[in-house]
Amino acid sequence: MGKQIEEYELPTFEVEPEVILDSIAGRQKCKKCSKKIRFFCYNCVLVVDELASQLPELHLPIKLHVIKHRGENNGKSTAVYAKIMAPSTVAMYTYPEKENTLNIDPETSLLLYPGEGAKTMEELADEGQLQKYRDLVVIDGTWPQANGIISNESRPEHASKHNMETKRILQNMQRVTITPRKTKFWRYQSLDSSYMATIEAIYFCYYEYSNAMQKCNMANVVDTGCRNTEKNCEEKSEDRPSGDIKDLLYFYKYYYNVIQNRYKSDKSLVFHSFQAKDYIKYD
Ligand SMILES: [Zn+2]
Repeated sequence: MGKQIEEYELPTFEVEPEVILDSIAGRQKCKKCSKKIRFFCYNCVLVVDELASQLPELHLPIKLHVIKHRGENNGKSTAVYAKIMAPSTVAMYTYPEKENTLNIDPETSLLLYPGEGAKTMEELADEGQLQKYRDLVVIDGTWPQANGIISNESRPEHASKHNMETKRILQNMQRVTITPRKTKFWRYQSLDSSYMATIEAIYFCYYEYSNAMQKCNMANVVDTGCRNTEKNCEEKSEDRPSGDIKDLLYFYKYYYNVIQNRYKSDKSLVFHSFQAKDYIKYD
């Protein structure tokens, strides 16, 4: 018997992207690569001026590092939504790079990756460990691609497809896992519906992190009478977490609704996606 997978309701999320995004009409040229874009350029990760001034800005509580496999197509990536919404607290990488650019301390970094040794945010909080982490790494790619990035590479003919320094950093991080939830992705083609889109996984990782930290901070108040953790006190004001982490799903919710509405308004359209017979929520 399969494990019960949690459902979450994207349409009821208190994020209203339509008001702003629907007001952006037509396409403009990307300032960097001249490609015609509506909201932002997937390749250059640049938002059109008209929109940039209106988007809510998010500062994540710990920095996010997204590692994209070289074989993964930019236009298909949902992870880029995180960089668009929280530009100063998100860094994007391609794996492998000739030189390692992932300059973070594995001792204070978490890697979202299930399996052996992976803990939940709550377990780390209960162990009194969660507060020491400053960075979170998420791999954007298929499971075989992610596995290739993490695993030990012993075949010499594959050495050029890897960066051993990046790999060593990733292998020495504490792994974390999140509660499986049924994806709302319109493009999942393989495995099953509990494999979330990268942006969903990122959002729920921060959601579970924030909940676990809240528990820690509450315990702190009782213990010390001070809500400020050591970490918060030494942070520069511009780095302080702000905004609503739900905004990580700003574009995701927008496109979800666009697709739902397109199919609902034209019953002759048939939604084609593996295992997604009931994807369109006809009322
Ligand atoms: Zn561009």
